[in-house]
Amino acid sequence: VFVCFEGGEGSGKSTQSRLLREHLEAAGHEVVLTFEPGDTAVGRELRRIVLSPETGELSDRTEALLYAADKAEHVDTVVLPALARGAVVITDRYVDSTLAYQGAGRTLPVAEVEDVARWATGDLRPHLTVVLDLEPSAGLGRFEGRDRIEGESLEFHQRVREAFTTMAAADPDHYLVLDARAPIEEIAATIRDRVEALL
Ligand code: C5P
Repeated sequence: VFVCFEGGEGSGKSTQSRLLREHLEAAGHEVVLTFEPGDTAVGRELRRIVLSPETGELSDRTEALLYAADKAEHVDTVVLPALARGAVVITDRYVDSTLAYQGAGRTLPVAEVEDVARWATGDLRPHLTVVLDLEPSAGLGRFEGRDRIEGESLEFHQRVREAFTTMAAADPDHYLVLDARAPIEEIAATIRDRVEALL
């Protein structure tokens, strides 16, 4: 089973993905908790390039291709092997982040970005994507200016937010959208119920 967490900055993805892992491990499942960008050796280099303010200007297409390369490495060397041995794989960000940030955020044609991302991932799709939805101004406060993306305009982050909720609304069987301001334990319980139904 392959579960993704998506959402804007400061929406609690890492907290919720960790809580889900703890719960599933306690129930006896092998769980691989991973993330994009950067959870492979090559990915760490790519993450540094795409996120360091020192990178300076980066063409939008170059950025999209670097994220795609990170995804290809991640899927081939981490996600697929874990799924093949029956582990539950939880990833903090996946293809939808690319559609939201490199597509909607940067205003590249989303269908083209999607083609590249689908090719990079061999069209591997999650069984469930949890979107932690949060008004961008609420999430960004904690991190202002920490990396290249967090320094983008509020409008950029609003396009990102809308992209996530629009994708989710179009495919309710594969998405769970939750208000990220709800109490942590309440969010975690809703996610657990939905994931357990998949196992
Ligand atoms: O989730 P995490 O905070 O590790 O993501 C790091 C940064 O990468 C965030 O600022 C996020 O907005 C950005 N990002 C991006 N495009 C992606 C994935 C992440 O701009 N496809």
